[in-house]
Amino acid sequence: MARIREVLRCLPGQNALVRGYYECDCGRGHWCLTEGGGAAMPALPADCLGVEWVLHHLVPRPPLDLAHR
Ligand SMILES: [Zn+2]
Repeated sequence: MARIREVLRCLPGQNALVRGYYECDCGRGHWCLTEGGGAAMPALPADCLGVEWVLHHLVPRPPLDLAHR
């Protein structure tokens, strides 16, 4: 069983495993979209009091033929 907590929560700079929208854990509504697949999570905003990003929902990767139009 995968350690689900490590998939759903990512520290800034840590490699994100899944593509999706992440919300910071400070509760002030900071968001980011990450590509997943090992892409590094962005830094938290300067006014953010949180520690890490929490996966909010997954975003499917668009089909290749649509992405290049
Ligand atoms: Zn925040």
